[in-house]
Amino acid sequence: MEARFSRSVLEALAALAHSAPAREVCGLLTGRGDAVTGHIAAANVAADPATRFEIDPATLLAALKAERGGGETVVGCYHSHPSDDPAPSERDAADAAPDGKLWLIIGRTKVGLWRAVADGGRFGRFEPVAWSVMTPSGLRDGPAFSKRPGEPHIRSLDA
Ligand SMILES: [Zn+2]
Repeated sequence: MEARFSRSVLEALAALAHSAPAREVCGLLTGRGDAVTGHIAAANVAADPATRFEIDPATLLAALKAERGGGETVVGCYHSHPSDDPAPSERDAADAAPDGKLWLIIGRTKVGLWRAVADGGRFGRFEPVAWSVMTPSGLRDGPAFSKRPGEPHIRSLDA
């Protein structure tokens, strides 16, 4: 099934990534099932944030505690790739648990969506996930986040 993203979440994450072009930004995606309607920014506590990301464990723990208390569900994570490649790296695959969560990767001009699974086609850990953009009035692609032909898991940011 196709995943869906709130347009406002995508716009906020793209702006966040573009504000830090020399390092990876990261955080959590929240929502319900494969519908992403919120996000929680986290500090990147990796030793080398230019080429890796590690979500601040305190942010993750707080989000999971809020989820247990009836708050938004953590449905995945996001991070940026200053290199612009919106596909998971081999390092990402080594760090990912095969928990079925969504991974959004934000490059300079394009953004890709993946799912962490036990036997994925990319480095044995990730599968591409097709997705669409939600506005308050329903599903719609816009000038930004347009679908790339033949690549339903990657969208362009070059609006
Ligand atoms: Zn990465």
